[in-house]
Amino acid sequence: MIIINSYILLIYCNYYLDGISCVDSLTEESFILKAHLLSWSGDIPALSKTLNLSGHNAIKGCRFCQIEGNSSTRHVYYPLPIPPMSNKINLPQLRTHNETYQKALQIESINNTNEKKNEIKNSGI
Ligand SMILES: [Zn+2]
Repeated sequence: MIIINSYILLIYCNYYLDGISCVDSLTEESFILKAHLLSWSGDIPALSKTLNLSGHNAIKGCRFCQIEGNSSTRHVYYPLPIPPMSNKINLPQLRTHNETYQKALQIESINNTNEKKNEIKNSGI
C-alpha cells in the first residue's frame, strides 16, 4: 500500500496512463509500470480538498447532499431536526454530478471576487 499526496497521485495516474519504463532492481529487467487508482480515502478536510469542495465550513458543506448549515455565528453548524411524530424526516436532496458541474461552471464565470467567494461559501463547491 502506498500513501501519497492524492493530488500528486492523480496527476501521475493521468500522466502515466500508458505506463512508464522501469527497471526491476533485483532482476535488472525492464518493465512497464502502470498505476491504477483502486481506493480513495481520507478525513473530511482531505476529501473536500481533493474533490475541490469548500468543506465543512460552507453553508452546504456536505459532499453528498444539499443540507444547509446555520451560519449565524462565525462557524457553520448543521442542526439536527427533531423527527415528527410520524417518524418521517425530510432528508436533504443528494448532490448530483451534473448539478455540481453546472454550479462549478457558474462559479468559474463570476468575475467579482467577493461575489465568487460568497457563492463558493453558499454552495460548498
Ligand atoms: Zn449530507
